[in-house]
Amino acid sequence: MTAASSPAAPPATPERRRVSARVAGIAESATLAVDAKAKALKAAGRPVIGFGAGEPDFPTPADVVEAAVAACQDPANHRYTPAGGLPVLREAIAAKTLRDSGWEVPPSQVLVTNGGKQAVYEVFAALLDPGDEVLLPAPYWTTYPEAVRLAGGTAVEVFAGPEQGYRVSVEQLEAARTPRTKVLLFNSPSNPTGAVYPPEEVRAIGRWALEHGVWVVSDEIYEHLVYDGARAASMPVEVPELADTCVVLNGVAKTYAMTGWRVGWLVGPADVVKGVGNLQSHLTSNVANVSQRAAVAALTGGLDAVARMREAFDRRRRTIVSMLSEIPGVECPLPQGAFYAYPSVQQLIGRSLRGREITSSAALAEIVLTEAEVAVVPGEAFGPSGFLRLSYALADDDLVEGVGRLQRLLAEVS
Ligand code: PLP
Repeated sequence: MTAASSPAAPPATPERRRVSARVAGIAESATLAVDAKAKALKAAGRPVIGFGAGEPDFPTPADVVEAAVAACQDPANHRYTPAGGLPVLREAIAAKTLRDSGWEVPPSQVLVTNGGKQAVYEVFAALLDPGDEVLLPAPYWTTYPEAVRLAGGTAVEVFAGPEQGYRVSVEQLEAARTPRTKVLLFNSPSNPTGAVYPPEEVRAIGRWALEHGVWVVSDEIYEHLVYDGARAASMPVEVPELADTCVVLNGVAKTYAMTGWRVGWLVGPADVVKGVGNLQSHLTSNVANVSQRAAVAALTGGLDAVARMREAFDRRRRTIVSMLSEIPGVECPLPQGAFYAYPSVQQLIGRSLRGREITSSAALAEIVLTEAEVAVVPGEAFGPSGFLRLSYALADDDLVEGVGRLQRLLAEVS
């Protein structure tokens, strides 16, 4: 039968969907959506100031770029390479893990992924069967629940508010645990709150997980962005007995200002890494070789660039938190990590601004964008309403101008 004589496609019925229920259920990344809206307004000539970006505003270090340029010239990089990553990069990641976290792992337990984001999807695909539950401390990074759902799991939110520094307790986790609980997602320093769990809390949570046979997926991608002498403690280092049921996620994006290069990784038990490697061999094959070579240069080249970024972020962190705290009805704890401030605006909900009711933090973010031309991400993207996320990865002058506009606009709330 030729294509022309094929019968018409059957009509879409509830039994035969056009887009699968699994994919139709995935929400657009709210953070990328806010960023795109702000960029579109900017492109249209509006003086928008964006606090939505989840990426450093610094260039990738020059020596890393030079390594990539050289890699382009080498024909070996023009071909397929092992799906799990270049051996030299897996070795560099193992060496870096020992240097930065004090965790000794063989390169065979490292798998290179297309950004940390792919590692998130793959680890849940590898660990979850339908109906398995994942404890998800909230506020959480917007990708986690979608990745859990896509893998057939159920995300169980455990909320921690500003009064507890946005850090969940063992008691809260225990209260949420059921016989179906398979995994705890742990992220410190945290996106979106900037919270950093002190080592003793990491230890307590790790021991609780060990005691109850709960796996821990520990996302440590912001490990080098910590302030006030805080230390980002690595879960399997604090609780070494957990190593057989723990997977650490990481990447070059935040530490080396390399978000666009798309190199992340996971480190975990041999059977999980093998399974994820098989999945990735069908999903994407190897990460672009030029990016992998750039990552080798970054990981073997020291930590001077991130020290300079940290200094700038620290300065902006203090400025943004002190300016936000001056706004009546806004409560903003001083975050100790990452590059986000996460103020509570709960006291503003139900009040009005320029003739509009502030029904939620999403409504407030919309009013702020239209009235002050300032882009912020509402808390709804990360869990409960009543919060805003402001990234301070932007120039100092823009930061002061943007928060100044917020101060002036929110002074009109009645
Ligand atoms: N984990 C967290 C907590 C993040 O905030 C991000 C990016 O925003 C990632 C992982 C993934 O980063 P990438 O895919 O750019 O490596």
